[in-house]
Amino acid sequence: MSNTAGQVIRCKAAVAWEAGKPLSIEEVEVAPPQAHEVRLKILFTSLCHTDVYFWEAKGQTPLFPRIFGHEAGGIVESVGPGVTDFQPGDQVLPVFTGEGVMLTDGKSRFSIKGKPVYHFVGTSTFSEYTVCHVGSVAKINPAAPLDKVCILSCGVSTGLGAALNVAKPKKGHSVAVFGLGAVGLAAAEGARLSGASRIIGVDLNPIRFNEAKRFGVTEFVNPKDHKKPVQEVIAEMTGGGVDRSIECTGNVQAMISAFECVHDGWGVAVLVGVPNKDDVFKTHPMNLLNERTLKGTFFGNYKPRTDLPGVVEKYINKELEVEKFITHSVPFTEINKAFDYMLRGEGLRCIIRMGD
Ligand code: NAD
Ligand code: ZN
Repeated sequence: MSNTAGQVIRCKAAVAWEAGKPLSIEEVEVAPPQAHEVRLKILFTSLCHTDVYFWEAKGQTPLFPRIFGHEAGGIVESVGPGVTDFQPGDQVLPVFTGEGVMLTDGKSRFSIKGKPVYHFVGTSTFSEYTVCHVGSVAKINPAAPLDKVCILSCGVSTGLGAALNVAKPKKGHSVAVFGLGAVGLAAAEGARLSGASRIIGVDLNPIRFNEAKRFGVTEFVNPKDHKKPVQEVIAEMTGGGVDRSIECTGNVQAMISAFECVHDGWGVAVLVGVPNKDDVFKTHPMNLLNERTLKGTFFGNYKPRTDLPGVVEKYINKELEVEKFITHSVPFTEINKAFDYMLRGEGLRCIIRMGD
């Protein structure tokens, strides 16, 4: 047992007090884990665009003050009653599955001077310690370097799974990937591993195209370079449409284009991006009658506890490279820089080092 087990831990957390304002590092109280919960010491976390959406309050229900963060790696500090499959010291990745409060009792485990601070998607990893339900934690190989595999806790696994588990391109297929951030480039990796012969990257940010070459993207389309809708450009490039498309932007127009650029008869489009709360997906029903398929996925259809350890093994066995997704690294005190990089569309993933 750790000597902090059963006690409130006081530690540093990056608190979002209001939408769109820089996070502030505060001392927070982290309550001990309750039944079927574990308390984690977070060692590395990174920023995914989903954190940014909710911080900008474009997501569903804005809740503040809140501790964001869901792409991370850490170790179990202590376990709550009834937890038998985790022990202090286990190396884990948390996975988003939850809300602003804990499932067990509808309360928060975080507070500042006794006043509650909301959780985020059951993970809240922008804190030195956090409490998660056991269902949102995956035990992984203790030999895996957390400063690398932490990014498998959301974005990279999501993109990879969107390709391998949901779009399932066949050998020789053409695949369009909308949005060439970490999620989209992981989808491109998945398409490449599946044997896709053409991988068409679509992004509004031309800087992305250089990075994307290292991820097997074979052709690029910037919608801004064309007068006609990008789905028509892609249909012309491919003789009627791509076999598969994977949308990783969060922009509803890109979602519609991703659906409308697949081939009649067999094309499959997969939506991964998180839309804004008032977005409406509009397309002519004939597009569906023409036997195109529209799908969507959370976490690339991987089951967190049972499938994520296997994705980590892919990295250990050198079947999956994660280093190339990591373009920045900052100490915890400079966490707001990670937001700046993402808002400027600079780089892919920024690792936030909790220990520094
Ligand atoms: P990112 O910001 O790093 O990358 C998004 C890319 O999309 C950027 O390069 C941007 O220039 C591009 N883009 C934006 N609008 C576009 C448009 N209209 N057309 C073409 N390109 C456009 O973000 P990320 O971390 O890679 O996340 C991508 C998306 O996936 C986000 O919406 C995020 O919330 C979502 N996400 C979903 C899940 C899930 O489980 N479904 C998991 C993780 C992330
Ligand atoms: Zn994410």
